[in-house]
Amino acid sequence: MNLCDERNVKRIMSMFSTGTKKSFGQNFLINPDVPYNIAKESYEYHRARNGAKKSAVIEIGPGIGSLTQELCEEYDKVIAVEIDKTLIPVLEYTLAEHKNVTVINDDFLKLDLEKLINEELDGYEISVCANLPYYITTPIIMALLENARRENGTSYFTSITVMVQKEVALRLCATPKQSDYGAITASINYYGNIEKLFDVTPDNFLPAPKVTSSVVRIELYDTKKYEVKSEKMLHRVISGAFMQRRKTLLNSLSSAFSEIPKDTLGDIIERCGFEPTVRGERLSVEDFCRLSDEIFILKN
Ligand code: SAM
Repeated sequence: MNLCDERNVKRIMSMFSTGTKKSFGQNFLINPDVPYNIAKESYEYHRARNGAKKSAVIEIGPGIGSLTQELCEEYDKVIAVEIDKTLIPVLEYTLAEHKNVTVINDDFLKLDLEKLINEELDGYEISVCANLPYYITTPIIMALLENARRENGTSYFTSITVMVQKEVALRLCATPKQSDYGAITASINYYGNIEKLFDVTPDNFLPAPKVTSSVVRIELYDTKKYEVKSEKMLHRVISGAFMQRRKTLLNSLSSAFSEIPKDTLGDIIERCGFEPTVRGERLSVEDFCRLSDEIFILKN
């Protein structure tokens, strides 16, 4: 079934008495080349890294199933998590011929990802692929990154291939010193490399969003590239450093760590090789790791 034919999309939605919901960020793809290319980018990279091992993909927000169909063609197993319960019967209908997909009706941000992986995907090499709902792009990517590693430090995921708004993609792919560089960029750099793949214009969606989208792929390191004393502290330092973008690193960190005297934080920043007047966007992931360890040692 061509799930990207605009007439088909409208027919299926009316058959199941449902419609696109802005509150769930629903913009469905209506050009079949787009889901085909997203799935191909995801799987070709996955296969190059994992060879012939059993492959699985987690999709967030399958909608009516256009990208899901393509993923079912490539991966051995597909887990699709959709928040909108009115789309569950739609997906049962549109994906009926694919026996390798499991649809879960849940809010991805409330899901116990580790439990899902242990119960459904034991023995599989896993990637993530999605046309993300734009209203929660950053929380979803952060949830994936913060749950990306097993206790032994190896990565659950090979890659995360997602479509996001173009301006968000610029932020995700920024390098230190660029104005778009932020907390999420530094976090991505800690877990892997990111590559921008291609742009998708608004006319490829129903309804058409106001802005252009981009597909990016985060390629996760198999094992830890950077060692820190506490990942929790690293996340706290990175998010604290960018909480108030116009402030200096010292002022931002002293708001985030009000329990530490400002002079002490200033000394730590200088020990890491920076002036206290530096801003967070100057620091690379290595710098954040050093800063995080210094603060961790001080507090423990
Ligand atoms: N994959 C489809 C496509 O490409 O045409 C739909 C993509 S649409 C941009 C985003 C999808 O994510 C919608 O189906 C929406 O209902 C779903 N969604 C929104 N918030 C979600 C959440 N918290 N957890 C799971 N799915 C969510």
